[in-house]
Amino acid sequence: MATGFLFHEKYMWHDTGSAALWYPAGALVQPDVHAENPETKRRLRNLLEVVDLLDHFIDLKPRMAGEDEILRVHTPDYVQSIKAKSDARGGNAGDGTPFGPGSYEIAQLSTGGVMAALDAVVEGTVTNAYALVRPPGHHAEPDMGRGFCIFANIAIAIRHAKAVHGIDRVAVVDWDVHHGNGTQKIFYEDPSVLTMSIHQDSWYPSESGHLTETGAGAGEGYNINVPLPAGSGRAPYLETFKRVVAPALYAFKPELIVVASGFDGSIYDPLGRMMVTSEVYREMTRILKGVAAEVAGHRLLLSHEGGYSAAYVPYCGLAVMEELSGRNSGVEDPFLESVSTVGGHQLYPHQDEVIQQAEALAKRLS
Ligand code: ZN
Repeated sequence: MATGFLFHEKYMWHDTGSAALWYPAGALVQPDVHAENPETKRRLRNLLEVVDLLDHFIDLKPRMAGEDEILRVHTPDYVQSIKAKSDARGGNAGDGTPFGPGSYEIAQLSTGGVMAALDAVVEGTVTNAYALVRPPGHHAEPDMGRGFCIFANIAIAIRHAKAVHGIDRVAVVDWDVHHGNGTQKIFYEDPSVLTMSIHQDSWYPSESGHLTETGAGAGEGYNINVPLPAGSGRAPYLETFKRVVAPALYAFKPELIVVASGFDGSIYDPLGRMMVTSEVYREMTRILKGVAAEVAGHRLLLSHEGGYSAAYVPYCGLAVMEELSGRNSGVEDPFLESVSTVGGHQLYPHQDEVIQQAEALAKRLS
């Protein structure tokens, strides 16, 4: 078993400018660091080094995604507009996605990083891998950047897997606190890509992510949303994985499982209202690793998305990396006791109701 890890300092140079959280600074809004800044990612990578885990992973190198590869998902006009703005002084990719000069190339390197990690998993160089890339990708739509995402990293990597590696069936599990609207939209009519998103109900984007969005045409039934109510913690997340995600994966039998790994479902996240702890991320990883071993020849790829608590994201990531690699650092999450003993982690009826409906959707796959 070998676990790959992919990172590049260039990812940290993607400049989202100043804001108050995500709200543009100016007038009566004092400038602050944009919520989607390098710090959470850099601290995650640094913690892995400090606890002596980094050297035990296979060091994967990113490459630049070619324009032809990006065009497998995005429209030529959109790609050209990003390039033109990036070559000038930067701009906005669409809905709330500011970027600075040179971000076109950094976004190419982010997408190419997920593709390189996918290559390593599919070719068997590694058993599984984590791509700590930036900018993220799961909100990006074919003709528009959204929610800090410029290019749809995972979707482009999946189209690459199909074109180059002859991979047919792929499942995406999105545990970012926000809805994976981009991935859903891109594969909505495609029965060969099962997309599942577990997120906070009606959060971002508020108009999508509902239980009723189940795919269309030939893809009907191959999109499952689990919009958990705000405040969901340990039990609703793990029940979702046991009752919806795992059964759907066993029924669908993908050749590869890709996770849109956002850590903004964490209890300390400023852009989410959920209560996920590092142990819950560890257990969700354990479940996916188990399913991947049984149906996908162990092939499991995690691609970084959101996560905005600079203090807590590193410990969530550490738990995931320990579980993925089967190697324990011996370092405990210093926040774990306080976040585990706080009330509200049990399954409440209004959460169970959502999971039951999603469970029915998963059953239709078998
Ligand atoms: Zn997110």
